[in-house]
Amino acid sequence: MTASLNPRVLVEEYARAAFRDPLQFARPRQDRTCPICGFTGKFLAAGPRPEARCPNCASKERDRIMGLYLDREGIRMEGRTILHFSPERPFWRRWHRLPGYVSGDVKVNKYANTQVDITRIQYSDAHFDHVICHHVLEHVPDDALGMRECARVLKPGGRAFFSVPQDLDRAETWERPPAMSVAAFERVVGRDHKRLYGRDFGDKLAAAGLRPDTIAVSPEEAERHRLGYRGLDQIYVCTR
Ligand SMILES: [Zn+2]
Repeated sequence: MTASLNPRVLVEEYARAAFRDPLQFARPRQDRTCPICGFTGKFLAAGPRPEARCPNCASKERDRIMGLYLDREGIRMEGRTILHFSPERPFWRRWHRLPGYVSGDVKVNKYANTQVDITRIQYSDAHFDHVICHHVLEHVPDDALGMRECARVLKPGGRAFFSVPQDLDRAETWERPPAMSVAAFERVVGRDHKRLYGRDFGDKLAAAGLRPDTIAVSPEEAERHRLGYRGLDQIYVCTR
C-alpha cells in the first residue's frame, strides 16, 4: 500500500506532539507502518503511550488492529451498508463519502451524520453488512439491549466489530456496587462509564445472539504496526 499523505493531519499531529511531549523526538523510535493509511515512519506518543499515534491519519493502536484485520480479510466497505458508532476519524476519513455509510452518535456532530440510539436503532432487521462499535457500550446503561439491537440490524453473513475498556484480569464485569457513589465509581472506571468489562464481554455478545471471536495478531505484526503498549486491545468480530 502506498501512503497518501494527509498534510493537515500531519501538521496537527506534529504540532500537538511537539507541544505535549517535545522530548519524544530525542527518544529512540522505530519506523512503523500504519495498515490504515499506509504511512511508514516514526509514530507519535499519546499521553503515556509512546509511538501510539500514526502522524498521517492519527490512528491509535486499536484502530490499527481493526485496519489490519479489514485488510487481511479483504473486507471492503465500497458498496456495503455500514453502521459506525461514534466513528474513529482515520476510518471516517476513508468512508464518509460512501453512500451506504451511516456514522451514528447520540447527537449529530462533525463526524456523525445521523442520530442513533444504540438501544433503539431506527433501521430494519438485517439492514447492515457491518456494524462498528468501539468504546461505546461502556457508556450505555442497558448495554445488553444495545448489543441485541446491533445483532438485529446485522445481516446474516455480515460482521459486527466491538471493543470496550476491559480488564482482562477480571473474570466478570464490574458494575457499580449500590453503596458506592457514581462519582467514586467513575474515578475508577472512567467518566460516564457505567461498568468495567471483564473477560466475560464475549459471553455478553453471545447472549445477545452474536457469535464473537477476537482478532489475533502475531508478535511481528504487533511490532511492525505498533498494535499495543501494555498488552493488546481486544477487538471482537461477530457474525450472527
Ligand atoms: Zn495512518
